[in-house]
Amino acid sequence: MHTLDLLLRQALLPDGSLAQIAVRAGKIHQIASPEANLGNAKTVLDLQGDLLCPGLVDGHIHLDKTFWGAPWHPHIPGDSVKQRVEIEKQLLKTVTVSVEQRAAHLLEQAIAQGTTQMRTHVDIHPEVGLRNLEGILRVRDRYQDYIDIQIVAFPQSGLMSCPGTLALLDQALTAGADLVGGLDPAGMDNDIQGHLDAVFQLAEKHGVNIDIHLHDPGELGIFELEQVIQRTEALGMQGHVAVSHAYCLGMVPVELVRATAEYLARADIAIMTTAPGHLAFPPIPLLRKAGIRIFSGSDDVRNAWCPFSKADMLERASLIAYRSDFRTDADLSTAFEIVTAGGAKVIQGAIPNFTQGAVADFIVIAADSVPAAVATQPPRKFVIKNGQVTVCKGELIGPISLTHSLKSI
Ligand SMILES: [Zn+2]
Repeated sequence: MHTLDLLLRQALLPDGSLAQIAVRAGKIHQIASPEANLGNAKTVLDLQGDLLCPGLVDGHIHLDKTFWGAPWHPHIPGDSVKQRVEIEKQLLKTVTVSVEQRAAHLLEQAIAQGTTQMRTHVDIHPEVGLRNLEGILRVRDRYQDYIDIQIVAFPQSGLMSCPGTLALLDQALTAGADLVGGLDPAGMDNDIQGHLDAVFQLAEKHGVNIDIHLHDPGELGIFELEQVIQRTEALGMQGHVAVSHAYCLGMVPVELVRATAEYLARADIAIMTTAPGHLAFPPIPLLRKAGIRIFSGSDDVRNAWCPFSKADMLERASLIAYRSDFRTDADLSTAFEIVTAGGAKVIQGAIPNFTQGAVADFIVIAADSVPAAVATQPPRKFVIKNGQVTVCKGELIGPISLTHSLKSI
């Protein structure tokens, strides 16, 4: 009998059963009853009845924007997206800690709390060129044993209204970015057609997916969604486009939301929501019922836009549930699904589950059920990535140690 890489004993699975999980070569090799003899393993963890769950997926974060790792920056308010973009540029000029160091601090927080897959947007505009992207590419490389990271080339300063950005996005997609982003075609660029045509043409040229930030409100936002749907269907990009925020879906009459949801589902456009505390946001149950893939992310973590958040996707699931008035176990489990398999399906990463051959990306939570974990967000005892234990009681272990990684960047 070959030696196993990892044996997890007394694991409480999300369905409430107790099991042993044997892992070999990064995948589940066997699932057995607690009493079965599965042989020797290089690492054996007795979970003592703690909950073993799929790894968390942060489907929308901005690693390059964070102040984490630098001194605290007091928040400076702005009245519009444009104004806040300018405030952010000025604030980031005062930060002396490199983008790699800041991103690494934030990333280690996310990893320690169980995030095993992530989609980060990275600012691309003439003032920064590809510098932020190059920093994030280095960080992605460094942490590849801990987390899978997908990078969106993001025109935070506008696209048609910010000369030079389009060419830089093109270069970013050659230099290692995985997706092309967009931002408020009306609100930022006042050119819905020009902005969306440029984004979709870049996606077609490079064969990449699209993820567009859409803050534009009400019927204007709905019109922009319709324009995204049209282009998605015309180019046969169903299943390859996501819209982040889409606040407009929480701002218009329900009949219009239903009609728009039907079109979004037909084009298989995914919707990302953070369940923001201060704004209307998409009605998750209605959209899921229509067949739309919903995912979530931390978005702004201690940056010029927002001082809050710890990049904890279990906390995010709790916020989704709280803001959506989810209280039943079924609803709390839905919130958990959004931050696990829901996100994995959108970023097209491995979908961890408890079947033989599934990728071994897991977290161990000190909880007795998934709904309890969402409601109370207990500590993560272990994180397992591709069958390797990467975090123990909040500390990164394995190829990178918490201090070593930061010193050497
Ligand atoms: Zn964002």
